[in-house]
Amino acid sequence: MTEAVTEKGLVIVYTGDGKGKTTAALGLLYRASGYRMKGLMVQFMKGRMHSGEREAASTSSDGLITIVPLGEGFTWETKDAARDRAVAQQAFEYARKEALTGGYDLVILDEINIALRYNYIDVPQVLALLDERPEHQNIVLTGRNAPDAILERADLVTEMKMIKHPFEKGILARKGVDF
Ligand code: ATP
Ligand code: MG
Repeated sequence: MTEAVTEKGLVIVYTGDGKGKTTAALGLLYRASGYRMKGLMVQFMKGRMHSGEREAASTSSDGLITIVPLGEGFTWETKDAARDRAVAQQAFEYARKEALTGGYDLVILDEINIALRYNYIDVPQVLALLDERPEHQNIVLTGRNAPDAILERADLVTEMKMIKHPFEKGILARKGVDF
């Protein structure tokens, strides 16, 4: 009898100021779905605005990709940090529960680095989740300015570096490219 080999899941970080962090994570969801691996992306910043990724997940992923926007965009202008923290904490609790009990092979915490940066979520909370999650589960953290403790814990870190971005020429976000 051969013993099943369980590969230990990886902790992957996409950070940096260049475009491509969320897109790279979406690419992993798509790739994994080809092996019928189940993937979840919890979006910590994006609100309910329409996005191509959510549409595609719900119409053409055969139920293998779930994308849940739980952000409201943080309200730095109104300086309502207590509310932002509550929203981020709720999103984290949801992500945590799903990561631990949802049967996912791949979990993406999209833009969580931003929430960590503003102390809306605490680094030890995330480190605890990385320890507690199912052993085979790959987990991805995206967003600029990933904290050092997260970089140290990660198996894979890629920094997207901005060389040029059309925004600098006044070209705004585009359907199918940016959302
Ligand atoms: P994407 O979702 O396209 O992969 P991202 O996740 O790397 O981008 P975020 O920091 O999450 O980038 O920013 C989200 C939005 O901001 C995207 O629409 C993206 O095109 C835009 N953006 C990313 N990098 C830059 C930049 N250096 N200057 C201006 N806009 C940017
Ligand atoms: Mg992003």
